Amino acid sequence: MRVPMIAGNWKMNTTVGEAIELVKAIRAELDRIDNVDMVLCPPFISLSAIGELIKGSSIKLGAQNLYFEEKGAYTGEVSSLMLAGLCEFVIVGHSERRQYFNETGEIVNNKVRAALKVGLTPILCIGERLEENEAGRTKEVVTEQLESSLAGIDCLGGLLIAYEPVWAIGTGRAASGEQASDTIGLIRRNVADLYSEKIGGEIRILYGGSVTAENAAEFMSQPEIDGALVGGASLKADQFLGIVKQTSEIKP
Ligand code: PEP
Repeated sequence: MRVPMIAGNWKMNTTVGEAIELVKAIRAELDRIDNVDMVLCPPFISLSAIGELIKGSSIKLGAQNLYFEEKGAYTGEVSSLMLAGLCEFVIVGHSERRQYFNETGEIVNNKVRAALKVGLTPILCIGERLEENEAGRTKEVVTEQLESSLAGIDCLGGLLIAYEPVWAIGTGRAASGEQASDTIGLIRRNVADLYSEKIGGEIRILYGGSVTAENAAEFMSQPEIDGALVGGASLKADQFLGIVKQTSEIKP
């Protein structure tokens, strides 16, 4: 049984005050849902305040990134050790980090290791760019990203994967449910080949890319898709609530 997850990636949005207001609006409605894991990933500076606000609720907290060294002279970075007491999840390898901050497969791999070492659960993002998709290279690209991200890692803990086609992120051009499901099926097969049939069957794989309350049902009705990583729509309480509620109704 894979418990569905809806995770909100707020990216570089919200001041601490705005983050608190958004959580208050979400929390009031979400307390009643118990069959979906709900994770909020605000900017680092809001983790602590939001952690206090969601205490006693079923909402969980994630960071958007981490640095792979535990401590030292790395000005401006935040390590796994610093996050371990603050949140349960951490997004790793988001395409915006690969694109704007030159994160390679090796860096992503180091970040996954750092997270797992301290008991943080990584939400590992993989996905092809538009030109790769158009050249029919989706399968090759996601397989390479998966293998490099997980190279040498024997135990995945509860690691989740988010399949996020880069062309669908923040563009309003979501993949179809069927497209997303096909690629997620392939990723699941790859995980089973790399680890075991059991792990392939158990790992939760989310779809991400322009998910909204309007199109969420299309993704959630696909048995291969275990939830969503939501960017833009997670900044609006009614949108996020709509996505979570539909997931709760559609997934068993
Ligand atoms: C994301 O940032 O992971 C994402 C999927 O963004 P959006 O929902 O805005 O496309």
